[in-house]
Amino acid sequence: MRCPKCGCEESKVIDSRPSENHEAIRRRRECVRCSTRFTTYERREETPLIVVKKDGTKETFDRQKVMNGLLRATVKRNIPVRTLDLLLDSIESELRDNGINEVPSREIGNMVLKRLNAIDGVAYVRFASVYHDFKDVREFSEELRRLAQ
Ligand SMILES: [Zn+2]
Repeated sequence: MRCPKCGCEESKVIDSRPSENHEAIRRRRECVRCSTRFTTYERREETPLIVVKKDGTKETFDRQKVMNGLLRATVKRNIPVRTLDLLLDSIESELRDNGINEVPSREIGNMVLKRLNAIDGVAYVRFASVYHDFKDVREFSEELRRLAQ
């Protein structure tokens, strides 16, 4: 990590924390020669998260795809995108923390639902109707009734 001011290659780390989206480590550094402070981002080397679909095919976890589903489910619900972003963060963290790198799509759906339920009931039902394959209409209306209580 070269100092941007004097080009010195030695610096000390004065602060280290995950970046906002957890995809990189943000480090504040200070040049040992001229004391200039600068920030570096170091990306984590990670194996991709693999989602196993219902038909058995695998694909890499597409955060944007889940986000699109969440945006559709939260139309006119006045839920900040930041909240949805954090929801996705917590799902990814939970999987990573448990050392899971291959997960059934249904399980991702359940993880979303568990969190969405705590945020907004309407969004939960909308998301559930798309991602949680209810066996029949009756099962779905029972879920709705349970939520209304
Ligand atoms: Zn320097």
